[in-house]
Amino acid sequence: MRKIIMVRYGEIYLKGLNRPYFLNLLLQRVKEALIDYDVSVWLSDSRIYVSDFEDSYLIINAVCKVFGVHSVCEAVEMSKEDFTDIESQAAEMMSGFSGTFKVNARRADKKYNLNSPQINAKLGAAILKNCPNLKVDVKEPDNILHVEIRDKAYLYVKVHEAVGGMPSGSNGKAMLLLSAGIDSPVAGYLVARRGVSLCAVHFYSFPYTGERSKDKVLSLAKILSSYSGKMKVYIVPFTKIQMEIHEKCPDNYTTLIMRRFMMRIADRLASSCEAQAIITGESIGQVASQTMEALCCTDIVVQKPVFRPLIGFDKEHIINIAKEIDSYETSCLPYEDCCTVFTPKHPVTKPRIDRAEQAEQYLDTENLIEEAISNVEVIEI
Ligand code: ATP
Ligand code: MG
Repeated sequence: MRKIIMVRYGEIYLKGLNRPYFLNLLLQRVKEALIDYDVSVWLSDSRIYVSDFEDSYLIINAVCKVFGVHSVCEAVEMSKEDFTDIESQAAEMMSGFSGTFKVNARRADKKYNLNSPQINAKLGAAILKNCPNLKVDVKEPDNILHVEIRDKAYLYVKVHEAVGGMPSGSNGKAMLLLSAGIDSPVAGYLVARRGVSLCAVHFYSFPYTGERSKDKVLSLAKILSSYSGKMKVYIVPFTKIQMEIHEKCPDNYTTLIMRRFMMRIADRLASSCEAQAIITGESIGQVASQTMEALCCTDIVVQKPVFRPLIGFDKEHIINIAKEIDSYETSCLPYEDCCTVFTPKHPVTKPRIDRAEQAEQYLDTENLIEEAISNVEVIEI
């Protein structure tokens, strides 16, 4: 008898012939998440198992963060041959609980000499005999003892819900526009949870925004990469572009034009790191540059699809996710972002594409973009 951790996958079960590909990728991701622990991890019978751990809490926490994992539980693995041993184990495991319970048996080994209802009845009786605090309630029990009969017997009570999604690396790559705010890390997280690998671009306005603001963005990238795996962060010097826009374009269009430059640069950097799409943390109507008209004016300058996973989310909802994924505190550090440096008093809320194009005529757009890209700093996280 020993303790093991059973890892269940979510949506991968919907896959047909390529399910082994997704399962093996998930196995690899679970192994990576546990790289600092001296444990055994393996795939058997479409299930991932972990054994030889010291502190199950640490292992469960780490595995629950792996995209593609639906739930995790710590189980007792034992021989299925002697049913009285299983009865004793069931009674012992339930002795710490009170209220109501039921036994939920699954017999994957169809040749086993007891069927599921028989296992439920026998183990229920053994538990009732040993645990005077417990009563049976099959409809809405407080506690469920799960029993799986496979090559061995597996018994567990608590099921830890994991993040879900699809294994990282199973769904291509996208370029995240990562600011120092609350929204963009959440946007990146939501797309990454679907198995998309990330790279990120940050527009940096030194000396208006300092080293600490860059460090903050890199810390956010690190938090994201703890879920989605390694990523490249492109730090783009943006001051010259902002100054030019500020000097040469109508004040009410400066934010919009700046965003059009960000998108163009992100689009090109995405191509150089083989990202197929762009992600931003925009949400309809949150600020002047996120009205329907403004979003249309920024979308039009890029070739690649722009994913805005927060488009329909209220700020409160976004903050709740930021807290869940542990990015909120870092996002709330006070260091400024480049957007706040040159904010006009009255940004246009219903910009027009022709007016934006007209305003940009005074800029040497192509050279400004090329210069910024040639001075990019690339940091591997
Ligand atoms: P956030 O909280 O993510 O900063 P926000 O509500 O402050 O978003 P904006 O500043 O208008 O909104 O930015 C909208 C989106 O544009 C951000 O979510 C991010 O994807 C991108 N963005 C803004 N500033 C930068 C930057 N300095 N570098 C990279 N991307 C940026
Ligand atoms: Mg911002």
